Amino acid sequence: MDVLNSPVLNKGAAFPLAERKALGLSGLLPPEISSLETQVSRAYLQYQQLPDAVSKNVYLTALHDRNEVLFHRLFAEHLQEMIPIVNDLTVGLAMEQYQHESRRPRGVYLSIDDIDGIEEAFTNFGASAGDIDLVLATDAEQILGLGDWGVGGIEVSIGKLAICSSAGGIDPNRVIPVMLDVGTNREALLQDPTYIGNRHPRIRGEQYDRFIETYVEAVRRRFPLALLQWEDLAPPNGRRILDKYRAQMCTFNDDMQGTGAICLAAAISAARVRGTRLHTERIVVFGAGAAGIGVADQMASAMVAEGLPEQEARKRFWLVDQQGLLTTETTDLKDHQVPYARPARESSRWKRTASGVGLAEVVRNVQPTVLVGASNVSQAFTSAIVDDMASHTERPVFLILSRPQLHAEASPADLISWTGGNALIATGNLYSPFTYNGLTYVIAQLSNALISPGLALGAVVCRATRISDGMLAAAASAVSSLVTVRHQGASLLPHLDDLRLGSKVVAAAVIEAARAEGIAGVKIGSIERQIDSLMWQPAYSPIAAI
Ligand code: NAD
Repeated sequence: MDVLNSPVLNKGAAFPLAERKALGLSGLLPPEISSLETQVSRAYLQYQQLPDAVSKNVYLTALHDRNEVLFHRLFAEHLQEMIPIVNDLTVGLAMEQYQHESRRPRGVYLSIDDIDGIEEAFTNFGASAGDIDLVLATDAEQILGLGDWGVGGIEVSIGKLAICSSAGGIDPNRVIPVMLDVGTNREALLQDPTYIGNRHPRIRGEQYDRFIETYVEAVRRRFPLALLQWEDLAPPNGRRILDKYRAQMCTFNDDMQGTGAICLAAAISAARVRGTRLHTERIVVFGAGAAGIGVADQMASAMVAEGLPEQEARKRFWLVDQQGLLTTETTDLKDHQVPYARPARESSRWKRTASGVGLAEVVRNVQPTVLVGASNVSQAFTSAIVDDMASHTERPVFLILSRPQLHAEASPADLISWTGGNALIATGNLYSPFTYNGLTYVIAQLSNALISPGLALGAVVCRATRISDGMLAAAASAVSSLVTVRHQGASLLPHLDDLRLGSKVVAAAVIEAARAEGIAGVKIGSIERQIDSLMWQPAYSPIAAI
């Protein structure tokens, strides 16, 4: 019974006769013995019959809690279709409806009201130093598309880890999702009598920092080899934490660095189409929040790698937020925006409105080659703005991150039509191919899943002591190398269903970069062989009674 009740050991109808006898399972299962392949087909059939995304999420969650191998095998075979189901928005909707039927506990819950309890929580989790490769923590303040989600935000981290295992071959038995519960500012949760998290507003300042520091120290002491990943923190905390720890340990913020790297991959592909180098681009970023700054940081660092001094690289960017163009005279700049503030004199003669120098005026004066949308302002890239850009740039590049489609700054169909088919596009949303003038355009999807599982796999295999900009740039180049962009209408990024193979290519590039920088913790002979031998496969292993 214990074996059947353990999702890690359970094989359901796939237990062979000998194991049924040896483990005392006879009579506890139907007589038919299925192969894993048959189980996957059966599960997929059931999944397809479900009426909506929420029911599908609930089904996959239950399967994950019942049989890990079957869940990951099914997931790995249908990544494009299922990633949106285990991710962000769908999880939020599922949580809204099912929060009170809380699932089988997974991971570690830490409370800011009990900082001294952090050690005890990890002791109770029971893993020892060499057992854990990846610890993924969230305080769930800014879950994409949902905002502050309180303690339920751990579900999103569980989904992200599932992607790392299915798409990146990270062993699901060697990961820990961690909920850093610092309270919630979502009034509906605070008022909900069935809410199961800390029932007070988010605690900030010195106590927050002490909580994070105690957590980081505990993880480093207990699991010195583990990659420490951050998800869904609000930008000021995410930025501060990353700046504090990234030079000291192997740590990674997916919202900032993963987003930056996937946009860099699309920009590299676009540069290949146009035969240009990145350091010659003029980039306007509309929406200078976590994602917008993450993109600017990654692209700037790639320009530095091409030989541009850092100060010069920053000058290739113009950031526009709610106050208009961000300049040295903008009064309420956030820390992470400061390095990109333009000298005020540059725009002193540009037209301004009550809300500063607007996007259209910036585009008119800057003549950008790349326009990034990360503002959530629907239809902000008007045909006039796009016309203006296209009049100076033969193949203008649009990286539209805002999700869902309703919030996108422009649709690919409009961008292609307005530019006569010349726009090079990647977006955070999934769009069907679009036909214009008899030619089909495949729209690249800016999915962090193309970067983070492969990056994690590479870091784990070579036991990287840090995640450097060089490793992120190598991951981005590897993703871009997976597509052929020469023919008109080709996607700038690979398809998500090829992800497992893509993750291996990304991991190899990341290991090579870490090795070149001297931050690989172990010596590796054949990189490919080492990746193959360490990549977890969703397949059943023999189980013996002892
Ligand atoms: P955020 O809230 O940190 O940033 C949004 C920024 O837009 C803020 O700085 C805000 O002030 C600014 N903004 C709001 N209204 C504006 C206006 N009228 N004019 C100019 N700027 C304005 O959010 P984020 O985490 O950076 O995410 C932004 C979007 O990018 C979201 O839709 C998110 O889902 C998406 N995203 C996509 C990917 C991906 O596709 N891989 C990854 C990360 C984020």
